[in-house]
Amino acid sequence: MERIVIAVLFSAGLGLIVFHQFRIRTEAPERARKNVALSRTAVQSSAGDCRMQSVRLLWPLGGEAGKDWVIANYVDHDKRKNSMRDYLGRTGAEAVTYDGHQGLDLEIPNFRMMDKGIPVYAATEGVVEEVFDSSPDRNLHCAPDKWNHVTLRHTGGWKTIYAHLKRGSVKVHPGAKVAAGTQLGFVGSSGCSTFPHLHFEVVDCQGRVIDPVKDALFVSPPNDVMTWAPKVMDLSIFQPIIHSILPILDPGTTDRNLVSAGYDFSVGVTISALKPGDVLSMEFLSPAREDREVFFERLVTQFLPRSHWWGNYRFDFPGTWTLVIKVNERTIYERPVIASQ
Ligand SMILES: [Zn+2]
Repeated sequence: MERIVIAVLFSAGLGLIVFHQFRIRTEAPERARKNVALSRTAVQSSAGDCRMQSVRLLWPLGGEAGKDWVIANYVDHDKRKNSMRDYLGRTGAEAVTYDGHQGLDLEIPNFRMMDKGIPVYAATEGVVEEVFDSSPDRNLHCAPDKWNHVTLRHTGGWKTIYAHLKRGSVKVHPGAKVAAGTQLGFVGSSGCSTFPHLHFEVVDCQGRVIDPVKDALFVSPPNDVMTWAPKVMDLSIFQPIIHSILPILDPGTTDRNLVSAGYDFSVGVTISALKPGDVLSMEFLSPAREDREVFFERLVTQFLPRSHWWGNYRFDFPGTWTLVIKVNERTIYERPVIASQ
């Protein structure tokens, strides 16, 4: 399932300003049956012989919340088809999950960061049960390929699954014992995946999906994603201008900071945790910091764990300009952009 919002704004005096906002569901629910050979029933708290009260998990990704990764989907607790409810009871469009989702989706900013290598760690000690890492890993759609993944088996028979990994990135072999925090591989976008992310899943000894957030299994869990302050996850300058979201998703390795004065360029940005009612804006300060021009402004109408935006601008004369990004008039990011002759 995917949702796309595209908006175009005309503004007198500034020429044409184009901005786009885009959110995609990271996976489709159909993928689970194809990709994992585990019997599944509904999400539930552990019970009986499968008690998991003493389980303590480390967060499976390194880096900073909201900057290097964002929680895009929690586990869906509503068993009914076409209904969803996350661990806080949010339903429908308010739910930070999607129908049938069985794990946590931790999205990284873009393919540039994936190429740098975002490590995935064992959440606790265990034995490697299953490894697969030969599927393509740059998917932007739900591919029928098997997802690259590692499955760990833990004392008592419960398991953790780390999925959509980068091709060829898995460092461990079946049968190996791993300690908590051992690097298993790198984040990728393999299998039924529309963006680079880690799908982290916990199942009990009977194969039932457990929600590690609701059951408070993490040693130091992040706050609920809807409470996070928005952050710039990544930013790219494009000259000539861009005409689709693809260059922002996969901006290459070069972080350009220099543009030619007198020619249009695009500022493409990836932002975490925007909420309904937030106003996102981008502006440039002139080299002498005397003039300030807002070239992009957008009212957010839905919760966006990760979103991509761009606006176009042109420097009238050379010098070092300052790009400022604000949410609700508060600066969240600032950097120089140099205009050459
Ligand atoms: Zn997932």
